[in-house]
Amino acid sequence: MPVIEVTNLHKRYGDTVAVDDVSFHVETGDIFGVLGPNGAGKTTTVECVAGLRVPDGGEVSVFGLDPRRDAARLRQLVGVQLQESQLPDRLRVAEALELYASFYRDPADPAQLIDELGLGPKRNTPYDKLSGGQKQRLSIALALVGNPRIAILDELTTGLDPQARRDTWSLIERVRDRGVTIVLVTHFMEEAERLCDRLAVIDKGRVVALDSPAGLVSAVAPEQRIRFRPSAPLDDRHLTDLPEVTAVTRSGPQVVVTGTGDLLYAVASLLARHRIVVADLRLEQATLDDAFVELTGHRLTD
Ligand code: ADP
Repeated sequence: MPVIEVTNLHKRYGDTVAVDDVSFHVETGDIFGVLGPNGAGKTTTVECVAGLRVPDGGEVSVFGLDPRRDAARLRQLVGVQLQESQLPDRLRVAEALELYASFYRDPADPAQLIDELGLGPKRNTPYDKLSGGQKQRLSIALALVGNPRIAILDELTTGLDPQARRDTWSLIERVRDRGVTIVLVTHFMEEAERLCDRLAVIDKGRVVALDSPAGLVSAVAPEQRIRFRPSAPLDDRHLTDLPEVTAVTRSGPQVVVTGTGDLLYAVASLLARHRIVVADLRLEQATLDDAFVELTGHRLTD
């Protein structure tokens, strides 16, 4: 069942069209990704979902409610972590969480959240003495302190080091396992690939694709490539006769086989029949990055 429905959303700032006819829906319990380069309109889109911006056109429905008209009810159901959350400099970590918890009818336990986000040693540290990564983790904790049924997380792991980023991903998976629906704004492919059940790829204010990460990749780039060094000479024709194979090329001693479907199984069976052993076997498949280039004509991080 969709918990969020966005239909033909439009939003401009003066002459800048930030969101140009965006539609998607988010299913209960999913991690839904909004992926795209800087300036694509991701934040504006989720701000409209969160009721923080008024759309110029289109419809947004969250639990069947209107984010602007039903703002008070939705505040209890939707937790929002936005970029650069600003808190008073002198407010301490535990104080901030206790303050935010007091806004909700059924909040999470601030002390437990502090531990889960690895902020235990910083519980009495004022906001302006936190590192960028610690501020980031505090803003995630603030989004979760109301025990929301939907959490909207914008650029969740920007500014975190690789270990902190992986820890945050594990935390998000645990939150999802508790049944929270998550909307994740990101420009990190790896994050989208690892976490998201479905993704809206947004470029220049428009949705250019809507699918699972694997679905996006196979839709735009179904081909796979296998590279290996055979232990004995192998006639290319044996390979090109396989229905799965579309091309065979050589690169020095290396054979490069391109194809679709169950390519690895077909090639491995053929090699076994010819009693050929292989060295340096590698299977290459397109990534979400490749899919993005195919869809938009440019790289995500350009
Ligand atoms: P993203 O989150 O994908 O980086 P944004 O939604 O922040 O994209 O921005 C989309 C476009 O709208 C950009 O061109 C940005 O410069 C512009 N924009 C965003 N917020 C404002 C604002 N408050 N005033 C004017 N222009 C804005």
